[in-house]
Amino acid sequence: MTTFDPDTLAIPARSSHLVKYEGEGTVAVPKRRTSRSNTRSRRSQWKAKVPTLAKCSRGHTIRPHTVCTTCGRYNDRQVLDV
Ligand SMILES: [Zn+2]
Repeated sequence: MTTFDPDTLAIPARSSHLVKYEGEGTVAVPKRRTSRSNTRSRRSQWKAKVPTLAKCSRGHTIRPHTVCTTCGRYNDRQVLDV
């Protein structure tokens, strides 16, 4: 089994599928490089999405199930001093 040296950051040769890491155990080493195609199709799913929005009891726009930061209310109760 190869030992990973964090000072040099050299990637150890894959002599086995496990590499010792700083005496704290072992980490898995990938068997082969991920193809450009696989990398790109995985990254094509990284998308920003529009957050779900709700209204607090006084009509402010909030994320659902969160305290309204404008009036400090949650579920019609005053829970924060604002
Ligand atoms: Zn509010």
